Amino acid sequence: MHAFIPLLVLIVNVGAVPTPFDEDVNVTTFAPPCNITACQLPNCLCSSTSIPGNIPVNNTPQFVLLTFDDAITIGNINYYREAMKNRLNPNNCTISATFFISHEYTDYSLVHELHSNGHDISLHSITHEPLTTYWKDATIDTLNREFADQKLLVSKFANIPTADLKGIRMPFLQMAGNNQFEMLKANNFVYDLSWTTRQYIKPGLWPYTMEYLSIQECLIPPCPTNSYSNVWVIPMINWEDMSGTVCSMVDACVHIPNTSDELLDWMKREFNKQYTGNRAPLGFYVHAAWFVAVADEIRFDAYKKFLNYLGTLKDVFIVSGSQVIEWVKNPKTVAQMTAAPITCHKTNPLNCNPKACRLIKEGIIDRWMTSCATECPHSYPWLGNPLGDK
Ligand code: ZN
Repeated sequence: MHAFIPLLVLIVNVGAVPTPFDEDVNVTTFAPPCNITACQLPNCLCSSTSIPGNIPVNNTPQFVLLTFDDAITIGNINYYREAMKNRLNPNNCTISATFFISHEYTDYSLVHELHSNGHDISLHSITHEPLTTYWKDATIDTLNREFADQKLLVSKFANIPTADLKGIRMPFLQMAGNNQFEMLKANNFVYDLSWTTRQYIKPGLWPYTMEYLSIQECLIPPCPTNSYSNVWVIPMINWEDMSGTVCSMVDACVHIPNTSDELLDWMKREFNKQYTGNRAPLGFYVHAAWFVAVADEIRFDAYKKFLNYLGTLKDVFIVSGSQVIEWVKNPKTVAQMTAAPITCHKTNPLNCNPKACRLIKEGIIDRWMTSCATECPHSYPWLGNPLGDK
């Protein structure tokens, strides 16, 4: 086999040979395969199905991530309030969810409320442009305007420190390759929660950093190929519907039961793949529209019953994306997590006087925006004008 190596080197050195990587690839930062010796916690972790910190599986917390995408409005806030209320993790800290917010129609006084209750407010772009090629081909500049500027927008209008806006999810889970991770790193984002996997369902893929090449398959290319230190990926482990078809978002699963009890059984089945496996964090990823799509809200009923069930398990923690990353950086056993003294994640006092403003979007469209800003902006915040001051 050695005789082939010079030939391979020769091919690699021919500049005209097309590479599978996107055009922004910079050879000097190309991510090498992970070096387990060099890549050590808290700031580096190879992509793998191994439990971080070599914690024994029966003393590893099973994390469940509840996420909700798109605008937060008076039309969906009550689902979030009701689903989350009065729920505690086994350490007696309140549960946390993660909200991926798109800008249009969002009521920022409600975003402020969710943040004050200890949930992760994460970003899902300003425009949520429906054309997926827009995201696939997005330049770093476009991604900066969609996400870095959105950080300023949400911080100002929801009155949240920029440092608390830690994660993103790409619209339609359309990856943007190296440009996406360049943007994440340059703007101090902590994690991405857009990258789906069906290859690593059981055993599941644990979160990892992007310093070295990921083992995760690329289902919605382009995926990153360069090295990015201190940027975490929380893999979206796919669910399977009743016909065995995989789905990245739970509300994208087509063949699902139509009674509350059968839905609950299905949710438990999917949960148990991780809980009886390597306990990689399980994601329950939906839009509030899924709750209302069928009569009598049986899905919402099943969802609450599922959370009730999780609440009976002494090693299951419902946490936000940033809390999962905090744990992975510094892994603890369930016994350590539930032993005194316990420091719960911070919640923040409400500090928002909701103000409704009638604004003009891009010079033509009327939009109402409720926010914590004391004065109405000049125009409806939008791409290239995130604070609405132009
Ligand atoms: Zn969306």
